[in-house]
Amino acid sequence: MTHITDQRSTDSRGVRLHFVNILMIVVAILLTFGLIYATWEISVSYDQMRAATDRYITCDQAARNLQAASDYLTAQTRLYVMTGDSEKVQNYFEEVNLTRRRDRALEDVRKYLAASEAEAHLQEALKLSDELKNLEITAMRMAVDGYGQNIHDFPREVRECTLSGDLAAMAPDRKLEAARMMLFDRTYQNYKDQIRSNVSLCVDNLVADTRLMQEDSANRLFNVLRNQHILIGMLLVSVLIMVFLTTFFIILPLRKSIDHIRNHQYLPMSGSYEFQYLARTYNSMFRTSQAQHQQLSYEATHDALTGLYNRSAFNTFLEEDLGGDVSLLLIDADKFKQINDTYGHATGDKILIKLATVLRDSFRAEDYVCRIGGDEFAVIMVHSTSAMKDLIREKVEKANAKLQDTSDGLPPISISVGVAFSDRIAPTDDIFKDADKALYEVKEAGRKGVAFF
Ligand code: GH3
Ligand code: MG
Repeated sequence: MTHITDQRSTDSRGVRLHFVNILMIVVAILLTFGLIYATWEISVSYDQMRAATDRYITCDQAARNLQAASDYLTAQTRLYVMTGDSEKVQNYFEEVNLTRRRDRALEDVRKYLAASEAEAHLQEALKLSDELKNLEITAMRMAVDGYGQNIHDFPREVRECTLSGDLAAMAPDRKLEAARMMLFDRTYQNYKDQIRSNVSLCVDNLVADTRLMQEDSANRLFNVLRNQHILIGMLLVSVLIMVFLTTFFIILPLRKSIDHIRNHQYLPMSGSYEFQYLARTYNSMFRTSQAQHQQLSYEATHDALTGLYNRSAFNTFLEEDLGGDVSLLLIDADKFKQINDTYGHATGDKILIKLATVLRDSFRAEDYVCRIGGDEFAVIMVHSTSAMKDLIREKVEKANAKLQDTSDGLPPISISVGVAFSDRIAPTDDIFKDADKALYEVKEAGRKGVAFF
């Protein structure tokens, strides 16, 4: 039996998934742009950190180079003055004019730290180193004379160095001694200390500046990463919301609906607004189809005049196992042609309707009362054995009495009934034929009565 739950009256007030969907798409797009921006910021912060590190490495190296070049010049000058080896003078000017580590160091620092304190310190160191260079060239000039070497064998700077009157007037031995003194005295040492101190201050400034830059980048990176985590979290939440909405407002209602469709039931009004709209439309079509189906199936199994089961339904009942023994009563109105001829066909129809009512009232609700022909009826009594003959005879007599009653304005008629039981003695294959035989006997015997096969 089909269980039908009509949800017609249920209003569909579900979530309008369409709007929620658009909203979620907009949110997802915004979050994605946010994430792209955050990723860009990360790369910027990364580049900034890298630049700070590169700058530190280059400038630190430059400062070291300036110090190393200055020390190299000191060493070459002292070696020449101490040994008279003119190659040291060549080395000296190669550093000053070709290798130029001191000038290049300042150029490198200027590239990264123009107008900074670090640059100022390095510039000061270079200035001091240049001043020291003049002192060193003077010492070299004096040593050339001290060693009695040919001045024309020396670089232009040494050749062009003119000694002041006092120095020029010194004897070669004294000149050599004075030159050595110049390279180790307090003034020379002060210069060296100041150069070292300025280089060291340049590096300190560089370290402090780099640290500031790195802290700034690290803070920026921290903020961007935190924002990125928040955005990823929000994106995750929006995905979960979408999954939740799709599951509870579409997939679950769909699965439930499939079960209802399989069981020929109305669809429940659950899920999203759109889904409920679909369910309402389906229910409406289902209702129409059900009504048409019921109408068709009723017409196929019922007699239009009396509302009893028709011949086709009767044949089906005969073939079915009705759960135990049955009695089959074949009923035929007596001399019905005459009734029609005498009172007219319309009255004949009314009598047939009355006969149907009498038969329906005479038997139990579970018995099958059918109209199987013009004035032919049949009753299949379920759970009924040949022990019920008297009861059946009594029912037929009572029915005949009712049909004789003319208080309703209809002419009296009678019926003849032939009965066969499923537990009858010596049955043929066909219970219908046996009941028909019994009916024939009643007709032969003068009608209005009952006979058992
Ligand atoms: P019998 O006692 O031997 O049965 O005589 P009978 O006149 O009843 O003969 P039969 O059963 O063969 O005739 C049945 C008649 O019932 C024939 C027809 O005129 C009438 N009839 C059949 N269908 C209808 C119907 O739907 N309405 C009316 N008014 N009469 C019908
Ligand atoms: Mg008849």
